[in-house]
Amino acid sequence: MERTPLIIGAGPAGLSAGLELTRRGVIPTILESTGGIGGLARTQVDGDWRIDPGGHRFFTRSEEVADLWRSLLPEDQWLAVPRSSAMLVNNRYVRYPLMGRDLLLQLAVGDVVRGAGGYAWARLRRQTRIERRETSFQEWGRSEFGRHWYELFFDGYVRKTWLADPENIASDWANQRIKPIGWQLSKNEQAVDQDVFRYPRYGPGQLWEAAAKKLADAGVDIRQNAMATSAHYDGRTWTVATDRGDIVTGDALFSSMPLRLLVTMLDPAPPEHIRAVADQLRHRSLITVAVALRKHYDIPYNWVYTPGPNFHVGRIQNYRRWSQDLCPKGFNGTYLGFEYFLLPDQDLWLANEHGLGAIVERDLHQLGFKNPQIERVMITRSKFAYPIHDPARDRSVVRIRDYLREHYPSLHPIGRNGMHHYDNQDHAMLSAIRSVGKYFGENVDPWQVNTDLSYQEQGLRR
Ligand SMILES: Cc1cc2nc3c(=O)[nH]c(=O)nc-3n(C[C@H](O)[C@H](O)[C@H](O)COP(=O)(O)OP(=O)(O)OC[C@H]3O[C@@H](n4cnc5c(N)ncnc54)[C@H](O)[C@@H]3O)c2cc1C
Repeated sequence: MERTPLIIGAGPAGLSAGLELTRRGVIPTILESTGGIGGLARTQVDGDWRIDPGGHRFFTRSEEVADLWRSLLPEDQWLAVPRSSAMLVNNRYVRYPLMGRDLLLQLAVGDVVRGAGGYAWARLRRQTRIERRETSFQEWGRSEFGRHWYELFFDGYVRKTWLADPENIASDWANQRIKPIGWQLSKNEQAVDQDVFRYPRYGPGQLWEAAAKKLADAGVDIRQNAMATSAHYDGRTWTVATDRGDIVTGDALFSSMPLRLLVTMLDPAPPEHIRAVADQLRHRSLITVAVALRKHYDIPYNWVYTPGPNFHVGRIQNYRRWSQDLCPKGFNGTYLGFEYFLLPDQDLWLANEHGLGAIVERDLHQLGFKNPQIERVMITRSKFAYPIHDPARDRSVVRIRDYLREHYPSLHPIGRNGMHHYDNQDHAMLSAIRSVGKYFGENVDPWQVNTDLSYQEQGLRR
């Protein structure tokens, strides 16, 4: 039987599926709706400026992923970047992940006293409880950091960036992403010093452009500006149509497009109850406004979280601390990425350069940048940036997954939005690689990737 798989999306998952297929001697066709490569992990280029839409650290626990990264870019194109991030609370920078010593030395006295008291009380309660059952982010955060420090650092941040009440967000992703306070001074100091991640010299998209080139060299047809709009399945063959008129057929379909939208374009259509649960899946969007300032500000962090209510921005990237090659040669000013989190239907999504520039200017002022002399403002928009985690999500995704498995056995949802799972690049890649294994008849379950609820930034491979 000739294998003719189709892939929707040229982001990390779609490209990884392509690489794994070609490694096994199969040449897929890839459909990509945009004119770019790399999906959320693309590098947007504007003249000599490069924008990383999210600040993409490359780290993983998987040797397989690390090897693949290394095979795609030569060693001199990888930078080793020391992580240094902070939270800006009550006009003070506090290093993040939180270290006990920093909390005591960098916070105002009132926040130390109230915070330490709340923390001690939370610890005591935890130890005397028989069973730990924090299901919401709020419960988890109060139990982990104590009420005051939770509210100072996380509650406002989650509301601003997740656009949701922390009471209604499941705690599972928090376990993976948020490190508990480190108290063992000497040992943890060392760990902080050694916290280094990899980064392609020209931003994350450099890696994915190299992957696309490797695929093209192997004969893979990557069609850009080709948005899949319908997918017909006759029980053997997939026929996918795009908005620019392509009609392609294949024996399997790997899809990294948002699961909610995939369900709406399937033909035959899934029943009403499946379409209804799919329709509940939600995303958050992201607008990254890159701002070049003529003035040089010495900000000793790669990025800063800004949970405070006085400004709109949720996080700020300090691009020159990621790679000097993100800005034009000879640029000595400050190059920042202001990240604004929003729902896809919010007015801000439609704001133009002028409107967003004004918001950034206000935020710069509130953050204490006096007369920053803006040289350039550049905007990137990511509509499906974050699959929203809420208690309904797990149940909905499982129901959709089971239905698709039974009725469209050669359909493989892959990646972050494809599986509606809050994955980093490595997990998006692994879900795609495992799905190719399944396509070849291996007994693997790609839905098991990234279901480990423990903190994920330990034991990393770079
Ligand atoms: C702010 C932010 C920060 C992040 N930081 C990190 C980090 O530090 N480290 C890390 O490893 N990861 C990070 N990530 C996550 C990383 O970006 C994702 O895990 C990864 O990009 C997911 O890859 P994917 O291929 O599954 O999805 P995507 O990157 O979303 O790619 C999907 C592709 O499918 C295309 N597509 C969608 N619909 C269609 C259609 N109908 N037809 C054709 N094509 C379509 C899209 O245009 C896109 O190119 C971050 C993400 C964000 C938003």
